[in-house]
Order: sequence, then structure tokens, then C-alpha cells
Amino acid sequence: MLRSETGQPQQIPTVLVFGGHDPSGGAGIAADISTLLALGCHPMVVITAITVQNTSQLLRYQLLDPQLIAAQAGALLEDAPIAACKTGMLGSAAIVAAVAEAVTALSTVPLVVDPVLYADRGGPLGEADLVAALQTSLLPRAALATPNVNECRALTSTAEPDQAARELMARGCRNVLVTGTHAPTPKVVHRLYQASNEAVKMSQWPRLNGIFHGSGCTLATAVAAHLAHGETMADAVNHALEYTWQSLRRAYRPGSGQSIPQRLWRLHRVDP
Ligand code: PLP
Repeated sequence: MLRSETGQPQQIPTVLVFGGHDPSGGAGIAADISTLLALGCHPMVVITAITVQNTSQLLRYQLLDPQLIAAQAGALLEDAPIAACKTGMLGSAAIVAAVAEAVTALSTVPLVVDPVLYADRGGPLGEADLVAALQTSLLPRAALATPNVNECRALTSTAEPDQAARELMARGCRNVLVTGTHAPTPKVVHRLYQASNEAVKMSQWPRLNGIFHGSGCTLATAVAAHLAHGETMADAVNHALEYTWQSLRRAYRPGSGQSIPQRLWRLHRVDP
């Protein structure tokens, strides 16, 4: 438990996130901020990229200067105690290097790496050098990585969850949650692999109708929020999966394209 300057336990732990801006409000930092507020954390947000997209399509993205990203992080780190950290869209090897350097000051803080490589609507969300940089600089520091099967295929030799998780843990990643939304199974099956424990923890969820945008961001950030509250990894993952499924069950369509998780469902007076 972090302590405030007065020595009191911090009731609202701060989570530091690095991610891109999705103007549609579905994914990226809008997803991170709303998830963290819903789960009783304070978001501190370092923006890595601006994307041009709506709920139907991704048109382009512009990465920010790695020095600007390092400066944003540096200003926060000299100011505030951080309880957990999460990375989303990073976009290039130079940005991964800036983020990896920034988080060396947070070696005792759990780091959740959502290895964002593509937009669900198609199209890459990063440069060709991104995968190797994630593999060598950031995933080895991660308390948890949250790849889907497509990201497993890009980051390891296989999309097969057991082998992909083994390869990521061999790089130093301490826990791997392979998410099952993109696998063609009747139920959605998520698998948590832990370097400290041989047993794979499987979690099955009814598959919801609809095409969602921002579910991966919501899940990874929800795990970081629960870790910031001091939960074990297994509890944090279970609670984050429940929160994300409940957000997806109440998803809504603010535009003409994909549905967006209702991340503030606990605050609504009338619950559908
Ligand atoms: N971050 C940004 C800025 C994005 O634009 C996207 C997808 O478009 C993502 C992350 C990944 O989104 P999802 O949670 O749907 O995997």
C-alpha cells in the first residue's frame, strides 16, 4: 500500500499509462482514463500518438516525438508515487526505448504491457521496428503481457497460446494473459500463464454479439487498476475480466460503426 505525504494509505492509487489517442473514445487513452476512474484509481497519462479514426475506420496515425514522451513521463515521475503502470499503443522502437527507460525508475511497480500492434478494423498501429523492440526492451520487464492470438503470432513463433506464453515468459515476462476474443471458439476462453506456477488458469465467458472497439485496452488497464489496489495477479486478472465482460455486455454505439464498452456502468442509476 502506498502512503501519502501525511503517512495515510493512498485511497486513490495513481496508475501511469502510456498510449495513443483515439478520438472516437473507444480505445486508447479515453478507454484507459474511463476504466481507471471507474475502478477508483487516478490516471496519469502520457500520450504517445494521435490517431485519426472514428467508430468505423482507422485512417492514419502520427507518432509523437520520443523526447516529448520521455519529458511527459519524467515530469510525472519526479512528482508522484505510481502504484501501477500500463502501456498500450507505442508505435515505434524509438518510443518503446523512451518508455522502457522511463519505467526503469519503477522497477518495483507492476507493469502491464498490452502489445498493441494492429487496429481491429485493419491496419497497423506501428512501424516495422515495433515488434522487435517490444520483444527485447519492454516485455522482459512486464509483470503481465495481454496478447490476443494475433499478437501472439506476431510476437512469438506461434499463435498457439501455450507455446506463445512459454516464449514470452522465456524472455522474462512474469505473467501472460492470452485473450481469446479473436479465436474462433463458441465461448471466449482466456488463459493466464504464470512463471511462478505451472497450472494454466482458464477463464470462459459467453461470447457476446457485436463488434467491439477498445475491449483490449479496457481489460489491460483494469488489471493495472486492480494491481494498484494491491491485489495478487490472479485476483487482478479475474476481477478485470469480470469488469470488462460487464462493460461489453452494456456496450453502446455512439457512431455508425463498432460498439464501445460502457466502462462507467457502475455509476449509472438505471442499469440495463
Ligand atoms: N490504442 C489505440 C490508440 C487504438 O487506436 C487502438 C485501436 O484502434 C488500440 C489501442 C487497440 O484497441 P483494442 O482495445 O480494440 O484492441
